Amino acid sequence: MPAVPASSFVLISGPSGFLGAHVAQQLLQAGFRVRGTVRSKEKGQYLVDRFKQQGLDKFEFVIVEDVEAPGAFDEAVKGVDAVVHTASPFHFNVTDPYKDLINPAVQGTLNALRSAAKEPRVKRVVITSSFAAVVNPHDPVYTFTEQDWNEFSPKQVEEKGKDVDPSQAYRCSKTKAEQAAWKFVEEEKPAFDITTIQPPLIFGPLEHEVPSADKLNTSINNFYGFLTGKKSAEDAQAGFGSFVDVRDVAKIHVESLLVEEAGNQRFLVATSDSSYQPLLDLFFAHADDSLKSAFPNAEKGKPGNPKPKANVMDTSKVRKTFKWQPIEAKDTVLDMAKSLAEYQQKWSA
Ligand code: NAP
Repeated sequence: MPAVPASSFVLISGPSGFLGAHVAQQLLQAGFRVRGTVRSKEKGQYLVDRFKQQGLDKFEFVIVEDVEAPGAFDEAVKGVDAVVHTASPFHFNVTDPYKDLINPAVQGTLNALRSAAKEPRVKRVVITSSFAAVVNPHDPVYTFTEQDWNEFSPKQVEEKGKDVDPSQAYRCSKTKAEQAAWKFVEEEKPAFDITTIQPPLIFGPLEHEVPSADKLNTSINNFYGFLTGKKSAEDAQAGFGSFVDVRDVAKIHVESLLVEEAGNQRFLVATSDSSYQPLLDLFFAHADDSLKSAFPNAEKGKPGNPKPKANVMDTSKVRKTFKWQPIEAKDTVLDMAKSLAEYQQKWSA
């Protein structure tokens, strides 16, 4: 029996984001009725209109301006059968790691859980965590599993305070948010169970509203930097570890609601280990001339010359539980580039 049948009513936080929009779209495609929390009416209406154009008319939105405010989701959660919490800041513009990243991540997660606990209908809460909550520096290469936790980044924040590297502050925010979620379940014993999902860097096509290039989300902006020539051949060698397609991550969120055994589990989800160079190689090998012409300054890097692997993720659990096969890396790269070419056209119109 599915944990949350596909005809149910689901609340999603963050559908205006890169990943959240795909999760909301796939929930609707699976037959769920979906309520999204957004920070403005305009962002909500954009999604209503976009989904309607795709024949998906069971999306509604409510405004939750501040996920940190006590009781933030109390109204939004009324009447729903499940919650998917994706909203969390992912950027590196950090002046205060707590104010900018850690507090909204942790309090946003706890508020989603506290509100869910007030709605007796809620059976499951799915939380977007991150590989950031799992990874530790390792030399030589190490294979991470769902047993691993990031112990390094919280220590870095503790030791360095406001001078901490912004990427460590982000990793700390995701670690502390996920740990807070598991502690909540252990201590409060709510009527629902939770599932947490740990993707590495997410790429793929865009569904959400991006009014200008400088508003691109962090992971897509990284790749776009190569397409526009702002990033160098040296940057392309940087081993970021692993990546995954946004449609796959969304799919695992939806499956986590449907599959009973996904309750009380963590899931590492990744396509493969990589640096940017192999992704650029795929772009130049497979993009047609029209797609290439959208990016005349694209950086080729040093073809066929990736840096050695950094992090390795054991994804056997997610593959087995959901009988999941990742989208091919070539399709991730081409669909992301096509989508960015379309957005570019809108930005210059
Ligand atoms: P994104 O496009 O920046 O989306 C973030 C979403 O969270 C947006 O809807 C944003 O709302 C909302 N949000 C952020 N801070 C908020 C706050 N203080 N109050 C209310 N809403 C807030 O980023 P994304 O890449 O899709 O990330 C979505 C989730 O995936 C996050 O939990 C992130 O940690 C996780 N993740 C992302 C990656 C990746 O490579 N992209 C990898 C692993 C995990 P607005 O639209 O109003 O700003």
